[in-house]
Amino acid sequence: METTNLKKIEYAKKLFKQISTIMYCPICNKDLVIYKNSLICSNNHNFNISRKGTTILHKNLKLKNDRIYTQNLFLNRRNFIKLGFYDELHNYVAKIINEYNPQIILDMGSGDGTHDFIISKKALNKILFIGIDLAKDGIDLANDYNNSNCLGIVGDLNNVPLKDHSIDMILNILSPSNESEMKRLLKSNGIIIKVTPKQEYLKELREALNIKNYDNENVIAQNINDKYVVLAKKEITRTFILDEQSLSYLCKMTPMMNNIEEIPKINSITIALNVYVLKIHNDMIYVKK
Ligand SMILES: [Zn+2]
Repeated sequence: METTNLKKIEYAKKLFKQISTIMYCPICNKDLVIYKNSLICSNNHNFNISRKGTTILHKNLKLKNDRIYTQNLFLNRRNFIKLGFYDELHNYVAKIINEYNPQIILDMGSGDGTHDFIISKKALNKILFIGIDLAKDGIDLANDYNNSNCLGIVGDLNNVPLKDHSIDMILNILSPSNESEMKRLLKSNGIIIKVTPKQEYLKELREALNIKNYDNENVIAQNINDKYVVLAKKEITRTFILDEQSLSYLCKMTPMMNNIEEIPKINSITIALNVYVLKIHNDMIYVKK
């Protein structure tokens, strides 16, 4: 175990080295350098790289433990994703990546990084994936993949510790995002791949739990059409049979089941997603760092 953990620090340092010119200190915005097992800035703000390869690049170095987004939730999410329920999404994202050939992809709201890991395996070229998420338990798991060029960082999606116009492509999969921050981070010809739920997403589980239908799909679609140039849109809808194991993973990965002990009896699940390939309008306002 010890050896594996030590290696994770070394892999993290190797990946941080690759992005050393685009990182900055989240407290004072000065450049960061790697020193021993830390990232430090010229004002001596010090961000430790843990044995799991995780660095908290956040103003608040001692983040509270999240009661909902726990290690258990992310482990079940990882297991569920690995069963193939999102294969069509992964294939499509990989196809877009292969078309645009970015060097660095930033996943905003990466959680445990499993989507990135699977997509990276399908990409034709070696790409550096940076996953950023506030949930430390998720990022600790994401760094299980840091020997595959996927680096997880704990950070604030509203204050990403990366420089203006440093990123070729942003992924944003089923997670809220800060549009101004995305514009700041993207290079001028950068691309966003944004994945949002369709109304039918996980509908069997919603019905079993008496949770009302997800009805935000049209509002989000309108917002996207207003704010971005839509280069492509793909709709993915597929219903899968669930066995006992996959049902258990599903129930334990979703905040919908928070405070619900009993696993509902459902035997199928619908994965329904809108995948948008976007560019930002040039006149969109954002805050420079
Ligand atoms: Zn600093």
